Formats: sequence, C-alpha cells, structure tokens
Amino acid sequence: MKYRSIKGTRDILPGETARWQHVESVIRRVMADFSYREIRTPIFEQTSLFARSIGELTDIVSKEMYTFLDRSEESITLRPEGTATTVRAYIQNNLGEAAPLTKVYYLGPMFRQERPQAGRLRQFHQFGAEALGSSSPTLDVEAIMLPLQVYKQLGVSETSLKLNSVGCEKCRPRYKKLLQEELLKIQSKLSPESQARLEQNPLRVLDSKDERDQKLTASIPLMKDHLCDECRDHFASVQTLLNHLNIPHIVDGRLVRGLDYYTKTAFEITTSHLGSQDALAGGGRYDLLVEELGGKSTPGVGFAAGIERVLITLEKLGKDKFQEAGPVVFFVGMDDKSREWAFLKSCELRMRGISAELDYLNRSVKAQMREANRLHAKFVVVIGEEELKSRSAKLKNMATGEESPISFDRLDSVL
Ligand code: AMP
Repeated sequence: MKYRSIKGTRDILPGETARWQHVESVIRRVMADFSYREIRTPIFEQTSLFARSIGELTDIVSKEMYTFLDRSEESITLRPEGTATTVRAYIQNNLGEAAPLTKVYYLGPMFRQERPQAGRLRQFHQFGAEALGSSSPTLDVEAIMLPLQVYKQLGVSETSLKLNSVGCEKCRPRYKKLLQEELLKIQSKLSPESQARLEQNPLRVLDSKDERDQKLTASIPLMKDHLCDECRDHFASVQTLLNHLNIPHIVDGRLVRGLDYYTKTAFEITTSHLGSQDALAGGGRYDLLVEELGGKSTPGVGFAAGIERVLITLEKLGKDKFQEAGPVVFFVGMDDKSREWAFLKSCELRMRGISAELDYLNRSVKAQMREANRLHAKFVVVIGEEELKSRSAKLKNMATGEESPISFDRLDSVL
C-alpha cells in the first residue's frame, strides 16, 4: 500500500457515520434547546492567535500545534481548539454589537500533535459552545449543563464533574506569588518540567502528572482558598445553582486545565467508561480573552468536548448500534432490459424524493436479494421479461416477507 493516512488521523467509514450523525443531531438539538446558534470558523488561523490566547507555556502551544509557513511565509496553525477562533470571529464580525449576549456553538475537527493512543488522536473532533457578553454565573452553569445534557440524551449516565476557581486578575497575582514562594522551597526536588513552569506559570505545577510533584505539592496552598470576594461569590453562586439543578460536582482545587485563558470557573467532565484518557469535556470562564485578542472588554464562558471520546463511551456501553435507513425500494433486474428499466424507474423515484436502489454489477437474482437485505431495503421488486410485458410485478415487504401484486402505474403511490 503506497499511501496511508497520517499517524493519529482516522477515516470515518460509511459503517460509522450513522453513529456520528446521531451524536451530531443530539448535540444540535441540545444547543437549540439552550438557544446557542452554530458558528463555523476556518480550520487554520494565524499562529499568534493561538500562542497569545492559549498561552506560550501550555503543552498545546509549546509542543502540539501543527504550525507551518505558507507560501507567503506567513505562520499558519491548524486550530488546536475552538475558543480562540470563535473569539477572533466574534471580534472581527462585531457580533457583540448585534447582540449584547452572543451564544454560539461549533462542531468540527481540531489538530494537535500528541502521542496517539486510545482516545487520543492528532485530528480529533470537538463540539463546544461559548457565551460572550455576560459575567453571570448562570452562563457558567449552562456551559456545564450543555455537555452533560448531550451525554444524558445519548445514554451516558456515569459522568463526574470536577470544578475549581482559578481566580481573576485581582486575586491571582497575589496567590501566584504565594505559590511561587512555597514552590521555591521545594524547587530542586520538582520535575524538570515543573521547575521550568515555576517561574512564569506556577499554577500549572499543581496540574503536573508527575507523581513526585503531586506528593511534594500535596499540602501547597490552593487558589480556591485565596480568592477575592468577587471570585468567591461567583464560585459559590455556580455551586448553588448546580445544587438547585441537582448536578453533583466535586471541588478540585488542583484543576487548572491545559489552557491559560481561564478566569474564575474551570471544570472538567470525566467518565469511568474511558481508560487513562477519561476526559470527556472541559471548559471555564475567560473574562480577559476578548480584550487580550484586541476586542472590547467582554466576559465569556464556554466548554469543549471530544466527539471520539463520547463515541468510545457509547461503544463500551453497547449503545452505538444504529440502523441506517435503507432505500424504500430495491429493484432486482433479471436481464439487461429489466436493469435498464430499474435504473430509469429508480431515477424517476429519486427525483420525487423516494429512495430507490438497484444492482449495478450484473449479479444473480440471489445475490441482488442479498444486497437488498444488506441495505435494509423496505420493499423489493423483481423485474423480468414477464413483468415488463404485463407492466406489473410483485412487491415484497422485506420485514414481513409478504408479497403483493402491483401494477407499474400504482407502484409510486404505495412506496
Ligand atoms: P481541551 O480542549 O484540551 O480542553 O479538550 C476538551 C476535550 O477534547 C477533552 O476533554 C477530550 O474529550 C477532547 N480531546 C482533547 N484532545 C484530544 C485528542 N488529542 N484526541 C481526542 N480527543 C481529544
């Protein structure tokens, strides 16, 4: 085989697309229920958009982006996530002027050069939503509810929600200093990665996957205990609203997430059905991002969720079997003339919006019947010399096996 797909990318084959379409239709329905409207942005952008918003020191920007120079020497990056592009589009198209609160969602491929493994791809798909223009904690709760509602409607019930507050520009610098002071005391014992982060982005040390780092920082002060009044109130309101809605959550003071733009709320949804890559969705508030990217100061909150991850979960639960709708009628032709008639009749029906299919490979009648079965055709009509002469045939209902005579003139009206 000369060509193979790039490592970490997958073909989504015809046998799988019914599952994808089902998940996508649930997503669209839930988004509509919450009045989020779809936005479609380009899959590549200027590199600096992502570097600036996601943060230079994050894994995504420092080692995972697909970045290249195009023919005019401009640095381009395939989008690794959807928030930065959505915010760029929001600013560029003055969406804030058209509506003081903009609620949008997206669905599409994202690109990160990670080490491929089960549930981790280099081209993967996310759905996500952003609410721009309000600092109300109700919208933080919506960002949490949206993916949860999608999972519920898909039949994924065992999810767990972790919640944290990462503070704001008022309280975070103070805490950052305190954290740095504490980390400096154990600096030499930390992993090289954490040592590098200590200087500019000490919060990320809390998120370290290194077991030694985790032990060393077990009793380190956490942001959630050093919030300013505004952040504390906001965090409390989010939790109160979640309680009113009976949405269980765990406060995890170490949750930082892999993107630097978050302020106040940060959250992650995991499921026990996945292995080590157990994160289904994550999100949070980003009140400084719009201004950071050149827009007017505008608060925002949102989430992003992996589509492959939810599909793997559905597969584990045995809830991924979907019967694709087959053609209404399959014409079995016994000779060349009948096949030609079947083709012309199929086209006529298709043009009227009735799905019809036939054999194109000169197969035997038996093989054509097998094909009709495989395609889950609702009816089969066998055509031969006799049928063409009498302009009538037998209509076979594939579900019941029942056969009834039908004249060609009446065929359209019973399909
Ligand atoms: P993030 O944008 O990193 O917050 O990720 C949000 C969600 O996207 C995660 O919870 C995963 O479900 C999914 N995701 C992130 N990276 C990958 C990847 N490389 N492959 C598959 N899914 C991913």
